[in-house]
Amino acid sequence: MSTEPLFDTLTVIGPGLIGASVLHSARRTGTLARRLIAVDINPAFRERVEQLGIADEVTADARDAASRSDCVMLSVPVGAIGPVAAEILPVMKPGAILTDTGSTKVSVIDAVTPALRPDISFIPAHPMAGTEYSGPDAGFATLFENRWSLLTPLPGTPETDIGKIISLWERCGARTRLMTPQHHDKVCAIVSHLPHLLAFTICGTADDLADETRSEVLDFAASGFRDFTRIAASDPTMWRDIFLSNREAVLEMLARFMEDAQAMARAIRWSDSDYIVNRIERSRAIRRSLIENRQV
Ligand code: NAP
Repeated sequence: MSTEPLFDTLTVIGPGLIGASVLHSARRTGTLARRLIAVDINPAFRERVEQLGIADEVTADARDAASRSDCVMLSVPVGAIGPVAAEILPVMKPGAILTDTGSTKVSVIDAVTPALRPDISFIPAHPMAGTEYSGPDAGFATLFENRWSLLTPLPGTPETDIGKIISLWERCGARTRLMTPQHHDKVCAIVSHLPHLLAFTICGTADDLADETRSEVLDFAASGFRDFTRIAASDPTMWRDIFLSNREAVLEMLARFMEDAQAMARAIRWSDSDYIVNRIERSRAIRRSLIENRQV
């Protein structure tokens, strides 16, 4: 792998969990860019990024930073990607690359496209890595190691520019795959968005229970419920944006899930042991494959 920096100046707008992790990786490898700029609207976060020392410059001025960068990464909540792109695209350098880390892709592309310029490559990406924490302190350099980063480039994007964003993620330790934005959103609805929806719902149900039962839920939470609470601790703004921007795929997967849950309920009601065991065995096989794929 070349050690020559990919970019002269890389700006990360929104140095939260994902953006700060990219900056940590960039600092660690030293091969993403010669100069790193972090942009955040939150003064407390700017101060933390300065203290962490993961950027050469920290500013609130996205337009000024973008005008001096050859790559700009938008790592803000999905609903903010379109407005921030519209703000910076008019001042970006000709030939520069715009990329993002948003968890949904069709709506992000729809939101960015109206402001796109022919001399800027927009290369949407989604690193499939994360924790339930947010903000700059949540970031760390190894977050992307052995994780996937999914790229959904637009037709006609120069191969060399796509290659640079592939290299960026590989230098952060990730594996990359290209796919259409529609396929991305469907896959993520089942592997990420539906599990979060279930976790938020289960925790909500537990919270709705009568006082006495609720306190016992907290006292005796065994690992099953506890694992759901970890997922359910995720950032509300981020997840609101994800559900609303991937509405159709999420609802389609939820409908499939509810059919399957009904089938399981039926099997339990009628003591259909074979069905129950078969479902659990298939689930265990998925878990084994994840371990073999180094995804846990
Ligand atoms: P995060 O920790 O909340 O960081 C987002 C940062 O963007 C915060 O510092 C936020 O500041 C800032 N911000 C919000 N609006 C802004 C604006 N208009 N201009 C500049 N900064 C702005 O979120 P994250 O978890 O890193 O997620 C970032 C993106 O990556 C999202 O699109 C998300 O869908 C995607 N993603 C997340 C995960 C995950 O597991 N968390 C995984 C893969 C991809 P304030 O808090 O003050 O608003």
